[in-house]
Amino acid sequence: MSAPSGLRVFSIPLRTRFRGITVREGVLLRGDAGWGEWSPFLEYDDATSRPWLDCAREAADVGWPEPLRQHVPVNVTVPATDPERAHAIVTAGGCRTAKVKVAERGQTLADDLARVEAVRDALGPDGLVRVDANGAWDVDEAVRAIAALERAAGGLEYVEQPVATVEDLAVVRRRVGVPIAADESIRRAEDPYRVRDLEAADIAVLKVQPLGGVRACLRIAEDIGLPVVVSSAIESSIGIAAGVALAAALPELHHACGLATVQMLTDDVVGEPMLPVDGLLAVTRPDVDEGALARVAAADDRVDHWRRRLGSVGQDRIS
Ligand SMILES: [Mg+2]
Repeated sequence: MSAPSGLRVFSIPLRTRFRGITVREGVLLRGDAGWGEWSPFLEYDDATSRPWLDCAREAADVGWPEPLRQHVPVNVTVPATDPERAHAIVTAGGCRTAKVKVAERGQTLADDLARVEAVRDALGPDGLVRVDANGAWDVDEAVRAIAALERAAGGLEYVEQPVATVEDLAVVRRRVGVPIAADESIRRAEDPYRVRDLEAADIAVLKVQPLGGVRACLRIAEDIGLPVVVSSAIESSIGIAAGVALAAALPELHHACGLATVQMLTDDVVGEPMLPVDGLLAVTRPDVDEGALARVAAADDRVDHWRRRLGSVGQDRIS
């Protein structure tokens, strides 16, 4: 609690660099329904950051629909690391589904094949392996790589964002037998409809903050009629709870979610972080712990930054 206004701004280092950042910052808002997190990435403009605020206000002011399940299965994420480390991460993760990063710059397809083989070995035959290329392949590379990865993995659950554009996703989807998931192609509320209209994916990865909250995502899921994987934007446990609320409220949940990301942060703002046990996250709503928040409170200049930003995005509410 660093500001006289009471604006709660957290600043938590990441264990390893992710999308170019080493620290995750955001604002915690408190309303009648509880705590909400607003943590748009620093380079986002006001218009892009607005749905993120809608998500935080829903959490704080309205709360979420009743859960339909008490636990949400989650995947362990395997970075573009060597096979031994990949094996160890999956073994330690305790999840039945592993998402493996592939197509990392500076690496070869052989590196990816060795990594997915190690992951399959660690999971056993009943586990599910999905890969995420973050849009790094072109269409022909994707078709070749997906065939090879499917053989090496002994079957793939799906391939996430093999190519960068929705148009190319649609082309790849018609040339391979493995299901395709759209992630980076879904960033704004209108994007899922474009993915659906171009028949570009079999699965939609939805994130509650960029898409405007739990109810907004439930509407999108119903409209597009695709199976959904709920994923995080690397939030604190307060933000993760919103993603869990979506996963818990979806009428059907066929795939493990990408919500086990709290461990990417070195600290948290709650007493009991949203960490999986045996590959499951409990559907709970954690409370902010003042001691934890004090540990990760942002410096005054960062609080000023977030106050200005909050004002400019259209809100000046404080906790
Ligand atoms: Mg992804």
